[in-house]
Amino acid sequence: MQAYDDRGDGPWPGSGDSDVPPLNETDRGEILADLADLAVYQALLAGRGVRGIVVDCADCGEQHFHEWNLLRASLQQLLDEGRMRPHEPAYDPDPAYYVTWEYCRGYADATLAD
Ligand SMILES: [Zn+2]
Repeated sequence: MQAYDDRGDGPWPGSGDSDVPPLNETDRGEILADLADLAVYQALLAGRGVRGIVVDCADCGEQHFHEWNLLRASLQQLLDEGRMRPHEPAYDPDPAYYVTWEYCRGYADATLAD
């Protein structure tokens, strides 16, 4: 979790809300499922040069690029703290090396069906 060491103990700047409702069991289940999927996708795709996942963000309308390990850390943080650090700035990612969840799902289905 090195990537989040810079945030200190207080609320994140710009996050606005200090009051975070706890996750319900459905939310937690979905996050755990995402973490499990993520592990499979990383195992299948990292060796093929894929660096992570690209997500179309419903909040800001832009694409966010998440390197595998950062995405896992974000999901784990969501599980632990009830929120994710919002809109992690991209570090000049090359879109050619990122794929969507849908791509991962299709790839895993095709690969694991053999
Ligand atoms: Zn966004």
